[in-house]
Amino acid sequence: MATAGKVIKCKAAVAWEAGKPLSMEEVEVAPPQAMEVRVKILFTSLCHTDVYFWEAKGQTPMFPRIFGHEAGGIVESVGEGVTELAPGDHVLPVFTGECKECPHCKSAESNMCDLLRINTDRGVMIGDGKSRFSIDGKPIYHFVGTSTFSEYTVMHVGCVAKINPEAPLDKVCVLSCGISTGLGASINVAKPPKGSTVAIFGLGAVGLAVSALIPLLIVLQLQSACATGLHLFTPSCLYDSGCRRCKDCRCIKDHWC
Ligand SMILES: [Zn+2]
Ligand SMILES: [Zn+2]
Repeated sequence: MATAGKVIKCKAAVAWEAGKPLSMEEVEVAPPQAMEVRVKILFTSLCHTDVYFWEAKGQTPMFPRIFGHEAGGIVESVGEGVTELAPGDHVLPVFTGECKECPHCKSAESNMCDLLRINTDRGVMIGDGKSRFSIDGKPIYHFVGTSTFSEYTVMHVGCVAKINPEAPLDKVCVLSCGISTGLGASINVAKPPKGSTVAIFGLGAVGLAVSALIPLLIVLQLQSACATGLHLFTPSCLYDSGCRRCKDCRCIKDHWC
């Protein structure tokens, strides 16, 4: 691509201070260095982890910073040594990356890579300890190695997953955090035996990913929009016209199916 090896100027949502509104700025994004890729972010979503570190309560503040870690994009250029990705590849960022070499990466029981495991206190690239983002020469910190609230971002190649280009990026971007977190917690950690009764607390992207995996569960919807508080329902009941439903939120009042 014509931009390969050059600094790219683009828009990014920059957090200048903890808890202060993000500001749309023109940032400079340096070319990817060894084992890095620069990605054009086409879709990104907001996860509560972004909010938590933006609030920075009880944390060591690291600002200015570009948040964002759940996204989808297309590789713009690759750095030296990158062989498994090429410009034009459709990719998702992965904040807990894999070097594929360390004991954790080779283990079926862990994905806490020695090199690329999530590190919220690091705001620079692993390779040279520098940021790839700047405004008028002033560095802007990265976030969990992804920083997807920018039209272009630079990531370690181990923090990028290549996907089928036919997958719609506007929809599969949630695989890079919410869905994989819910599925992973179920399959790899909870490992509920067949026939288990389980409870899911909260039905955001993570909770819904679990419920999609285990369709015959009983869901405790603690964050119902219905004003009457706790409601119980099973997903199958939502399609059963025989159930008594709350008029406001479709969950079932005083009814155990
Ligand atoms: Zn997330
Ligand atoms: Zn590793």
